[in-house]
Amino acid sequence: MGALSAAAPIPPALRTFVAPTRYVQGPGALDKVGNLVALRRSRAYLLVDMQLADTIGVRLAASLNEAGVATLMKSVDGEVTWSNIDTLTKHARSHSPDVIVAAGGGKVLDQGKGIARTLDVPIVTVPTIASNDGPTSRVIALYDEQHQLVDTPHMQANPELVVVDTTVIAAAPIRFLLSGIGDALAKKFEAEACARAAGLNSHRQRALALPAFIADGCFDELVTHGADAVSGSPDAVERVVEACVLMSGMAFENGGLSMAHAMTRGLMACPGSDAHLHGFHVAYGLLVQLAHEDHASYAAVRQYVAAIGLPCSLTQLDTEPSDANRRVLAQSVLDSPHRANCDPYPSLASLMVAIDKVEVDASTDLNANGRTA
Ligand SMILES: [Zn+2]
Repeated sequence: MGALSAAAPIPPALRTFVAPTRYVQGPGALDKVGNLVALRRSRAYLLVDMQLADTIGVRLAASLNEAGVATLMKSVDGEVTWSNIDTLTKHARSHSPDVIVAAGGGKVLDQGKGIARTLDVPIVTVPTIASNDGPTSRVIALYDEQHQLVDTPHMQANPELVVVDTTVIAAAPIRFLLSGIGDALAKKFEAEACARAAGLNSHRQRALALPAFIADGCFDELVTHGADAVSGSPDAVERVVEACVLMSGMAFENGGLSMAHAMTRGLMACPGSDAHLHGFHVAYGLLVQLAHEDHASYAAVRQYVAAIGLPCSLTQLDTEPSDANRRVLAQSVLDSPHRANCDPYPSLASLMVAIDKVEVDASTDLNANGRTA
């Protein structure tokens, strides 16, 4: 199979909005998956993270079978590569599924999306962590064996159903929710930059007005409820999970991405930062974007990022802020398709200045805190 991105099927002068068909969130939602899938489907290929096979996998299989959905379960722990997706697709075909149900983190969901794309059947996503906004989108993050992002092909449609059990999400290590917050926080500023630059969203079109409202609401929710969610307040967890999964997903797919996401490929290529979660990369990339834009919200966002426990510098991402690493990051923006969605339009020199500013500001904080401690 070729690693191609789906070409826009309609002229770029038109504008499109997509979203999952149904989104269900709350404590205990996992056990409703069977009834919800059975409304429209009868044969499920259930893909589940290997570490969750005996717990979440067993519960989902029971829920599906009790609802009359004939289910074949497969546990996985591999990378999201075309090779792995091909192997899984062959296995799935033996069951003739009319739906793929994928439960786990981003890798499992993206492998499920790859199978759904190849078989042209709908997918149901059941994220067990809220570390990014992939569960609602049609985009597949495809990697090579060295875990470098190589392509972002699309499914024919967004997930038919997204089920987010907040009891499961709240039980996961907090770094996953923090990552989700970092990923979601940037969407408002990326959508704004994309609009200013007359850039294109994932449909390769200009955005409608709606995604910007969603991205603004997403940001407000994170600012208002983020800290309480990280502290474990159940009501705040509900609000923030919705912002991180549903709002952030609709915002990026329809509103467009910009510099914060353009930097993530560079951060995956640098020693140290490559071990951190996607949302940690995006939070740092957002600070560089806002510094580059000389944005009025730079200081406030930096304060939020630091207070909630996300990285404010390369040093905090365990990466040496060397000239070589800073050049890798700057070049990743110049090479990214999102470069065209940046405003002002970045050059190597302007990016190096912004990266330097973020690093210096973080070390100044550290010194100031040291003096007052
Ligand atoms: Zn993201």
